[in-house]
Amino acid sequence: MTPNVYDAVIIGSGAGGAAVAFNLVKANKNVVLLERGESLPRDGSTLAVKTVFKQGHYKNKAPWVDNRNRTFMPEEFYNVGGKTKWYGAALLRFAPHEFEADEEFHCLPWPIGYADLEPYYDQAEELLHLHRFENEPELQKLIDKIVAADPGWRPESLPLGVKRAILQDENEAKHFDGFASMCGYKSDSEVSLLNRIADRANFRLLTNKQVDSLLAGEDSPQTVIGVRCADGSSFYGSRVILAAGAMTSPRLLQDYLAQTGLNASLPSARLVGAHFKFHVNSALVAFSPFAKHDMLRKTAIFFNAAYPHTTVQCLGWLDGEILATQLPAAVPRFVANAMGKRAYGFFVTTEDGSSPDNRIISCGGHGGLPVMDYELGRIKPSRDEHRRAVRAFEGRLLQAGLMGVAKYMGLAGTAHAMGTLVTGANPADSVVDADGKVHGLQNLYVGDGSILPRASRVNPALTIYAWGLRLGRHLGQTDTFDG
Ligand SMILES: Cc1cc2nc3c(=O)[nH]c(=O)nc-3n(C[C@H](O)[C@H](O)[C@H](O)COP(=O)(O)OP(=O)(O)OC[C@H]3O[C@@H](n4cnc5c(N)ncnc54)[C@H](O)[C@@H]3O)c2cc1C
Repeated sequence: MTPNVYDAVIIGSGAGGAAVAFNLVKANKNVVLLERGESLPRDGSTLAVKTVFKQGHYKNKAPWVDNRNRTFMPEEFYNVGGKTKWYGAALLRFAPHEFEADEEFHCLPWPIGYADLEPYYDQAEELLHLHRFENEPELQKLIDKIVAADPGWRPESLPLGVKRAILQDENEAKHFDGFASMCGYKSDSEVSLLNRIADRANFRLLTNKQVDSLLAGEDSPQTVIGVRCADGSSFYGSRVILAAGAMTSPRLLQDYLAQTGLNASLPSARLVGAHFKFHVNSALVAFSPFAKHDMLRKTAIFFNAAYPHTTVQCLGWLDGEILATQLPAAVPRFVANAMGKRAYGFFVTTEDGSSPDNRIISCGGHGGLPVMDYELGRIKPSRDEHRRAVRAFEGRLLQAGLMGVAKYMGLAGTAHAMGTLVTGANPADSVVDADGKVHGLQNLYVGDGSILPRASRVNPALTIYAWGLRLGRHLGQTDTFDG
């Protein structure tokens, strides 16, 4: 292999980047994967509530601004495996109808249908070893009460990328949702994909490589030939794949279009960063008069036809220590502990429609900070359904004897960031084509959650893995990588 010249240069090792790499390496292409962060330590600190939640040790520390120039820090993670190291591993497929437009809800269509992604959902589920756990006794009783009060709430067991052996390891079982497993119990992109290709001679994973810019071909800004990293190193590839996550990939492309002047001529330039989505998410903590003993908890999800764009998912273990990180410091620990013993967590997720004005902007804020311009008022049907669903579920919990308190996650809650380089058939209303290539540019592809035209009512990671696997297969089948 010639140093720094590859068939494919992939930026980012999260769900999308690792999935593209996996199928490209299997197709014998020479691949380099450039990851901004490092591998996470295996010293137990990724399971420690104080380090992870209170100190936010592993989270992004770079400030962003909202559309009023107010500073905040989005919940981004820069490490090998990206956000998949921290995710709750609830891995669900989008429904077939969620590949179609829904005009009333401001939802864009995919240029492909469910059937096109289905083989890659199958491959992803196999690689990630998905399975369902039985509900623990107290959760099952609660579900029974909710359904008895209102059969409209339809519970299903949650497909999890979590090994059954975790049940024998209490510390890991209580800290898998929002923490990074030390023993590899969780199917994340590192454990399930990168580790399987790590020894292949045609694959290199380079860490501490923050890509700062895309490189244009001589005399041809329409052709992307490589990338430059913050440390001054450059990497060249016949294919360059953006997979730095939906908050970063659009900024790299915006900077490239500005630097080359293409933002004036490329039809899709104004859509780069637009249509940002990250679900309308609220955490709902429900307190029971009695102490709770279930451990895994995150085993069920509710659907309800009255709220067709919404799901309610059980969250993992909660206790006083975890709860205290969300309560005012003045709340004494014994109060937090008493509350934690009686608490059950839920996550209410509503699909956010696409507004072109909800967008990510590189360097647009004061001091050149990146901007997240996002308002729920631009997607009123999503906001309204979410409010109604939260109220309705709180009501069902109350009937079941639990007092619920809901909190909207706000702009910093970017766990489900997506949709800033949407895929579509037409360059006038999308950024990448159905094969993942950026409209109007040669060699540049997008493999991460940026491409999602619709957010759906369920968590996005399985669909991002499937898209990445499909892109890897597509590029792997291309005989020649020239031009
Ligand atoms: C706490 C938490 C819980 C979650 N729970 C779930 C869940 O249960 N189910 C689910 O489906 N989803 C869940 N998610 C969301 C899921 O993790 C993401 O949707 C998914 O990881 C996104 O994949 P991605 O490839 O688009 O981006 P990421 O996973 O964010 O990967 C992007 C990668 O690019 C790297 N990178 C960034 N900038 C650069 C650069 N300039 N140069 C080089 N590399 C760069 C990053 O370090 C990162 O490794 C959760 C997320 C979080 C944070």
